[in-house]
Amino acid sequence: MRFHQLERFVMAHIVIIGAGVIGTTIGRALAFKKAGPITILEKEPSAGQHQSGRNSGVIHSGINQKPGSMKARMCVEGNRLLREYCRKKKVPMEECGTLVSARTEKECCVLEKLLDMGMQCEVPGLKIITQKELKEREPASLGIAALFSPQGATVDAPALMEALTQEAKGLGIRYRFGTKVTGIDGKTVSTNQGKIEADHVINCAGLHSDTIAHMMDVGKQYRIIPFRGEYMEVRNCGVRSMIYQAPDLRFPFLSIHLTRETDGRVLAGPSAVPAFGREAYNKEWVWREMPGIFLSRQFIRLFMNPEFVGIAFDNAMVSLSKSAFLRQIQSLVSGVKSDDIIPARAGIRAQMVDSSGKMVNDLVAEYFKDSTHILNAVSPGLTSSLAFAEHVADRILNPQS
Ligand SMILES: Cc1cc2nc3c(=O)[nH]c(=O)nc-3n(C[C@H](O)[C@H](O)[C@H](O)COP(=O)(O)OP(=O)(O)OC[C@H]3O[C@@H](n4cnc5c(N)ncnc54)[C@H](O)[C@@H]3O)c2cc1C
Repeated sequence: MRFHQLERFVMAHIVIIGAGVIGTTIGRALAFKKAGPITILEKEPSAGQHQSGRNSGVIHSGINQKPGSMKARMCVEGNRLLREYCRKKKVPMEECGTLVSARTEKECCVLEKLLDMGMQCEVPGLKIITQKELKEREPASLGIAALFSPQGATVDAPALMEALTQEAKGLGIRYRFGTKVTGIDGKTVSTNQGKIEADHVINCAGLHSDTIAHMMDVGKQYRIIPFRGEYMEVRNCGVRSMIYQAPDLRFPFLSIHLTRETDGRVLAGPSAVPAFGREAYNKEWVWREMPGIFLSRQFIRLFMNPEFVGIAFDNAMVSLSKSAFLRQIQSLVSGVKSDDIIPARAGIRAQMVDSSGKMVNDLVAEYFKDSTHILNAVSPGLTSSLAFAEHVADRILNPQS
């Protein structure tokens, strides 16, 4: 069976939509398995212009993942594969470990919970460290204890995208940049550059993955709600590695952290606030997209959840007010003043919300004979990418597995 399925795909033309880390790694995995000619269509002039090049660059160890979830498995395995890949390809990476800092007794309970979740997910080397040990690692930290995860690392995400893209090209994958998919009818993919015939379409369109899926009548119950995350560069704070706030486990991505990047700069962020457009990096209002986002039943139901609204309001304050952002930083480390922080980049997360208004926290992919849809390559998608791509490629080539 395995052999026949592989044979079915040999020489079939696979068209991948989106040259982010997910489209590129899935293409790479399929090329290694000699699945047939592969073309990647990307509307931008180069790869990794959206989420994959505009993130925190953290190689997560898997400490805040739900045990048993696909995301937990992919994150833990992806962490190992990605660190190996960066070492081999000489992509800039710092294997500095992750600290989740507790500032109150209540947050110490969150650390215990994270430790338990991490151990269930088989994250290696986790331990809770005392305030003294924390101070030895991060002298400016204000935590009273921390969870330390030695597998956490930071990577230069644009350099990683460049390495993956060059490797994919070397494997024979054809990139068509500046090519925006505008419609799909059976095997015919329409683009702004003409029509392309595909035996199998793989939708890896990130912030637009729902739009592409809906063109093929897939995933109609889901909507991507874009969340903008802003970063501040923090000068003179002496952070040596990565310090996270203890998260609210109901909404784990809504908390900020301090990260020393591979170039030595320290960034704080990201905030998380609904964006007025899927690519509205500069807080602009993209009127044509707004009804689809804000009048969707998914968004309306999400905002009927009072717990979510409370946290979203706090995050909006962080986004809108420099002093609110500063207070978040000052709650993690001492000695940072207003003059020490300057706005840095922004990224926008593709967060899938279902028709009941629930944020979907796990990876979601749907598989059909002629198409595959990566509908929720949610954070930490960069970390998980190599492991997830392997899983998706196997699933496409061996549908019965
Ligand atoms: C602020 C932020 C911080 C994050 N931090 C981390 C982190 O520290 N660690 C981590 O592991 N993960 C992190 N993530 C998550 C991670 O970045 C994503 O999970 C991952 O990059 C998703 O990759 P992707 O390929 O699915 O999406 P993308 O990188 O967005 O790629 C999708 C591509 O599809 C293209 N496309 C869309 N529509 C079309 C069309 N119609 N035609 C042609 N092309 C199209 C887009 O131009 C884009 O290039 C973060 C994300 C954000 C936004």
